[in-house]
Amino acid sequence: MRIGTGFDVHRLAYGRPLILGGVNVPYEKGLLGHSDADVLVHAIMDAMLGALVLGDLGKHFPDTDPAYAGISSLKLMEKVSELCRKHGYRIVNADAVIIAERPRLAPYIKAMQENIARAAGTLPENIGVKATTSEGLGFCGREEGIAAQAVVLLKKD
Ligand code: MG
Repeated sequence: MRIGTGFDVHRLAYGRPLILGGVNVPYEKGLLGHSDADVLVHAIMDAMLGALVLGDLGKHFPDTDPAYAGISSLKLMEKVSELCRKHGYRIVNADAVIIAERPRLAPYIKAMQENIARAAGTLPENIGVKATTSEGLGFCGREEGIAAQAVVLLKKD
């Protein structure tokens, strides 16, 4: 078994959709980034890469590469899963937390778990997704950005 941890932050801006776990969440702002800026999926992918000591997400999908402009992060997740399988590993489980002051994410969590599980080639019950606020403190609390962190456990086939 191998374990990895991931963390990501994206800035909130007007005129962008808010995509979290592949779900388009209704909100007046969205996350800025080269891809769809899905901070949750990025944190989980970073943890998967970390578990196999394969470097970070930016190394595999540089934000200077036009191929990744506006791409769904779930597509990148499929590639990272494939890479893990190539190394002989599959996901046992992942657990992640989104840190966002608003909007309320509870109604969308199940759909996020299903989307991520599908892209990672596992079952939704293996993908934990939780959300918390930061009690109005810091950049998340001021709604300047959203952060996510994740832990992933991989097992050799
Ligand atoms: Mg990111």
